[in-house]
Amino acid sequence: MDDVVVIGGGIIGASTAYFLSKEGRKVRVIERDPAYKKASFPLSLGGFRRQFFQKENINLGKFALEFISDISNTLKTKKNPNPTASMVPNGYLLLFGPEHAEEQYEALKNHKACEAGTKNIPASKLKEIFNWINPKGLETATYTDSKIEGWIDPHMFHNALKSKAIELGAEFEKGDVKKISDIKAKTIVSAAGCWTKELLEDIPVAPQKHTVFRVKCPKHYPEMPLTGDLPSGVYWRPEGKEYLAGSPNSKFDCPDLEPEWDDFENLVWPALANRVPEFEQLKLTGGWAGYYDCNVLDNNAIVGKHPKYENVFLATGFTGRGLMQSPGIGRALTELITTGKYQTIDLSCFSIDRIFAKQKRTEPYVL
Ligand SMILES: Cc1cc2nc3c(=O)[nH]c(=O)nc-3n(C[C@H](O)[C@H](O)[C@H](O)COP(=O)(O)OP(=O)(O)OC[C@H]3O[C@@H](n4cnc5c(N)ncnc54)[C@H](O)[C@@H]3O)c2cc1C
Repeated sequence: MDDVVVIGGGIIGASTAYFLSKEGRKVRVIERDPAYKKASFPLSLGGFRRQFFQKENINLGKFALEFISDISNTLKTKKNPNPTASMVPNGYLLLFGPEHAEEQYEALKNHKACEAGTKNIPASKLKEIFNWINPKGLETATYTDSKIEGWIDPHMFHNALKSKAIELGAEFEKGDVKKISDIKAKTIVSAAGCWTKELLEDIPVAPQKHTVFRVKCPKHYPEMPLTGDLPSGVYWRPEGKEYLAGSPNSKFDCPDLEPEWDDFENLVWPALANRVPEFEQLKLTGGWAGYYDCNVLDNNAIVGKHPKYENVFLATGFTGRGLMQSPGIGRALTELITTGKYQTIDLSCFSIDRIFAKQKRTEPYVL
């Protein structure tokens, strides 16, 4: 019998394998597609932030920075002596209209309690800091300017975690797990992302297709933060000399990952040009689509021990933030598995019991 089997070798699986191996557990990771063609993490935007409403999500975002900043030490291996996640710490800027303002002022209390280091600015003053912005229709905004948020290269981060886990004794193998009961292990961790329901049918997580466009603009703003325009739902960031921009449109029941190209003309370009007048001159250069692991109950994580099994733990439902939460989730699952309770960030609020009781705990700041 295996000690620990992790089903799914994506970013949550790799992080969990790393933290468990560090604690001396013998981990076998089973991944059905080691090329990760449809896995969520390589198709993500790589963003990490602490600007959320709920304290747990704020604290997971804070830990992401702490962890990523130190991987040149912690994830160094013989094969990968200089691990990096290619961090770009340009910060985040979240823009709110009057309809979101009250909620945002409440969120700021949580930012303060968690010492998140975020700043709040009325829309009327936005141009003093972000001179490229058209603040029309906005009420308020939050941002960070001290290199504590930004984005990373998801592939490099995953490689670094996987390489270190392997050096610590974990094994990654190709395999498609059809049923949880096929696995014989002391501890089983389901890290199957948006496909979790195939293994655990009572977990309300579904693949939700999201499209990202790559665009070029004659005017380049290399210092631009990852900006989320809540009134339109469009978000964007620089990518080299170009930009990436996410569509606010999402779709369930899409077996293919063809981008929703019409969204660019209909939704994304108008919103970008409205908020950044220079973006009127954009040219579309590419795009892709990927699946969010969407928790259809409340857009929030589902983490913990499955109450119907003796030995099954799971983590999924991150709805657009699984990459940034992966360090905190890997650590949290390891605490739960090895000590029986959370030792650092208490994630009991994300338990599976809340799902069964249909107790929504909606995190509003989903991009
Ligand atoms: C367009 C887009 C933008 C995003 N932007 C961000 C962002 O900026 N920041 C952020 O933090 N997050 C972002 N995300 C979300 C993030 O990518 C996901 O939340 C995260 O990747 C979830 O990690 P995971 O390991 O659970 O799932 P995955 O990365 O999908 O990995 C799950 C793995 O499990 C394997 N698997 C599934 N079932 C089985 C089985 N039965 N047997 C064996 N293997 C199995 C799959 O093949 C897959 O490789 C974005 C996602 C998308 C699509």
